[in-house]
Formats: sequence, C-alpha cells, structure tokens
Amino acid sequence: MRIVLLGAPGAGKGTQCKRIVEKYGFQHLSSGDILRQERAAETDLGKKAQSYMDSGALVPDELIVEMMAGAINKTPSAGFVLDGFPRTINQAAELGKSLDSSGKKIDAVVNLQVDDEIVALRITGRRSCPKCGAVYHIKNLKPKVEGVCDNDGTGLVQRPDDTLEVVKNRLENYRKQTEPVVCYYKNNGSVQDIDANKDADEVTALLFEMLDALVSS
Ligand code: ADP
Ligand code: AMP
Repeated sequence: MRIVLLGAPGAGKGTQCKRIVEKYGFQHLSSGDILRQERAAETDLGKKAQSYMDSGALVPDELIVEMMAGAINKTPSAGFVLDGFPRTINQAAELGKSLDSSGKKIDAVVNLQVDDEIVALRITGRRSCPKCGAVYHIKNLKPKVEGVCDNDGTGLVQRPDDTLEVVKNRLENYRKQTEPVVCYYKNNGSVQDIDANKDADEVTALLFEMLDALVSS
C-alpha cells in the first residue's frame, strides 16, 4: 500500500502518520523530517536546504525528488505513507514517473483539510522532541509533563520555522505551489478528502475507516 497524505503545514499529517504506522506497519516518509535529519548531520543537502526551510520557502524540486526517490527505494515492501511530499506538480509528476518505471503506483491520495486559523494555532503551539521526533501541542496534545518528551524525558523545542511570521510564508507557498497538487491528483485519479479540523482522535478514526476499506479491497 502506497499512500500520499496531503494537507497544509500543521494540518496534522505527521501526527496521523505515526498512528497509521503503528496500526498498519507502513513506513512513514516525511520529507520535512528527512531534511531536518540532513541538517542535523550537516550534509551538503542539509546545508543547501537550510535557508529555504528557515524562510518558509520550498526547497528546490531537483534536491527533493532525488532525496525522496532514495528514501522510497530503501523502503520495505509493506508500503509507505508520504508526508510533505509531493509539494509541487513537478514533484508529483516525477514521483509518478519513478514509480511507473519500477511497475508501482500510488494506491491512495488523502487530503487533510483544515481552516487557516486552525493551522496557525496548531503550528505556533507545536513542540517537538529533538531526540526522538515526537510531536506535541501546548494545548491540544500535551505531553504528560509540560515541556518534556513522554518517550525519553528530553526538553521539547519549537521549530525555528514555526513562528507566526514564517507560517504566513509557508501557508502562502502552500496555496500557490501545493494546493494545485490536490487538483493534479483529482485529475489523474481520485483524492479522499478528510475534515481535519476535528480533534486528532476523530481524524484518526476517519483515516482508519478509509484505510481499512482500502487494505481489504
Ligand atoms: P503537519 O505534519 O501536517 O505539519 P503535525 O502533525 O505536526 O502537522 O501537527 C501540527 C500541530 O498540531 C502539532 O502540534 C500537533 O500536536 C497538533 N495537532 C495535530 N493534529 C491535531 C488535531 N486534529 N487537533 C488539534 N491539534 C492537532
Ligand atoms: P514540513 O516538516 O513538512 O513542515 O517541512 C518543513 C520545510 O521543509 C518546508 O517548509 C520546506 O522548506 C521543506 N520541505 C519539506 N518537504 C518539501 C518538499 N516536498 N518540497 C520542498 N520543500 C520541502
């Protein structure tokens, strides 16, 4: 099963992917997480990506397409769920070509729909664990002890691109460059929309219902 999870920054893609992985065993491939790992390891790619990420711009397609093709090739056969990729029509077309060439295809495209005001509150309240990558929210999905990761006790941090100023750019870029990807997939197959304004457990229930139907078909 190969799934693309679309949605604005802060829509809840990462949160839901972790739950999908737990239930179905698919690999979670988040382009943002991979880029942050590249930055932490100070690789060439990480250095090239840095200024784009910090300003809320998209990293150039050629870098992302190569990075994600590498990640997909390393993925075991149980399947994967893509989070944050593809984010441009060009990336979507390249992903399609690359899967085609190995006789594979995307099985489902799911779009988490969230209102802009909610997105802004989710992103600015997001806190993550620099060690294990777990994601929390200061009001909605709190850790057991404020400011501390439930898994490993590490102090939680705010991503540098999760400020209100950068969020505005990220949302603008989402509208211009990524929303057309939803239409691209609608025109080339189908997209399942999910109302992701709801609380995280309700969104998970909707996703599981959809994925259960897909897995058993
Ligand atoms: P994305 O991966 O789409 O950027 P995240 O999964 O990191 O989004 O979620 C963004 C923030 O919103 C996080 O702080 C997360 O804890 C919180 N969050 C995720 N889903 C929900 C939800 N359905 N309701 C409320 N808060 C949520
Ligand atoms: P995310 O963790 O998905 O919010 O991504 C964080 C940042 O990484 C984005 O604001 C972009 O700068 C960059 N990024 C992640 N995925 C992509 C992608 N598919 N294409 C271009 N840039 C990306």
